[in-house]
Amino acid sequence: MFITFEGGEGAGKTTILHRLAQRLTEEGYHVMTTREPGGIPIAEKIRDIILDKKNSIMDARTEALLYAAARRQHLVEKVKPALAKGEIVLCDRFIDSSLAYQGVARGLGVEAVFQINQFAIADQMPDLTLFFDIHPKEGLARIHNNKEREQNRLDLESLQFHNQVYQAYQQLLLKFPERIERIDANFDIIEVEANAYNKIKAKLL
Ligand code: C5P
Ligand code: MG
Repeated sequence: MFITFEGGEGAGKTTILHRLAQRLTEEGYHVMTTREPGGIPIAEKIRDIILDKKNSIMDARTEALLYAAARRQHLVEKVKPALAKGEIVLCDRFIDSSLAYQGVARGLGVEAVFQINQFAIADQMPDLTLFFDIHPKEGLARIHNNKEREQNRLDLESLQFHNQVYQAYQQLLLKFPERIERIDANFDIIEVEANAYNKIKAKLL
């Protein structure tokens, strides 16, 4: 079972992913956690290139292709082998991040970005995608309140950019109603986690 976690910054994706992994493992499931861009050495290197502030001149198409390349390698090297063993794979971001960030917010178009990602993933879509829904104003405020978290990369991107990402995810919900489940991420973490847990369990049964 391939489950992806999606949403803007500060939605709680990463924290909840790891808490759910622990809970499901305690229940006896075999769970593998990973993240994008990254998850394996080649893809983590690509992540560093993309997120390096010194590379801010990077062209949007170059960026989209690098995300797709990282996704391909991560999928082949780590995700598919785990799925083949029957594990539950919990992945922090996947194709929908590219559709939202590169397709909409960077203006490349959802269809164009979907096509290069189709080439990369060759039909390996997630079985379930949890979209953690929080307005960017709230999400970014959470991050700025969390001093431990590195913030500088966020300064590169305006609230307007994150608003576009947010609108894009709302459109993706309509485009893929069978795959994407909306989780209201405005509540406290325990409650959001419980809702996400219920969606996963419903899919596992
Ligand atoms: O998931 P995480 O917060 O670690 O993502 C790292 C950064 O990469 C985020 O700031 C996000 O804006 C950016 N990103 C992106 N396009 C993607 C995936 C992530 O711009 N497809
Ligand atoms: Mg995160």
